[in-house]
Amino acid sequence: MKLVMLGKPLCGKGTQAALLAKKLHIPHIAIGDLLRKEIAKKSSLGKRAAAFVVHGKLVPDTIILSFLKNKITGKKSFILDGFPRTIEQAGALEKICALDLVVEVDCSQALIRKRLASRLVCSGCGAVYGLHMQAKKKNVCNACKGVLVQRKDDTLAALKVRMASYSKQTKPLLAYYKRKGLFFQVSGEEKISLVQKKILKKIISL
Ligand code: AMP
Repeated sequence: MKLVMLGKPLCGKGTQAALLAKKLHIPHIAIGDLLRKEIAKKSSLGKRAAAFVVHGKLVPDTIILSFLKNKITGKKSFILDGFPRTIEQAGALEKICALDLVVEVDCSQALIRKRLASRLVCSGCGAVYGLHMQAKKKNVCNACKGVLVQRKDDTLAALKVRMASYSKQTKPLLAYYKRKGLFFQVSGEEKISLVQKKILKKIISL
């Protein structure tokens, strides 16, 4: 199963991708998470990507494509979260492998704003907190007791850039994958478990 998850920032695609990967026992390749790790490590790729990520801009393909290719080449199954984000990236992906399904998790602008105001990420284990799950102790992870922090690009200014990039560069992918008969849309405004159920039902029907 080769699956791509698409959606606006904070639509819940990362949450759904992680749950699906666990359920199906296949790798979850979240390009944003991988980039943030490279940035934290201060690797050469991390250093080149940092300014783009912090400001919510897409990292140029010259930096990201070979990195991505290394992560998926030879894998029989994966859930790709955050890639492709442009028609050019979709073309590059097609040269590497054929996809089985592309899921768009849809969400309104109003809910995205609410989620932005409440999202925190554990600096230890990466668990995501927000409207759906609160920390029992302020800024402390329920699971690993790590410190909860805000993602550097979870600011109103960066969200504006990320939304603009989604509308201009990523949204055309919806029609692109519809034409290929690979597209499935699900509302990301319902309970996490219900969204997950709907995606799983679609996968089973393939
Ligand atoms: P995400 O965690 O998916 O919200 O991604 C965080 C940031 O990583 C984005 O705002 C971009 O700066 C960068 N990024 C993630 N995926 C891509 C991609 N496919 N192409 C270029 N940049 C990306």
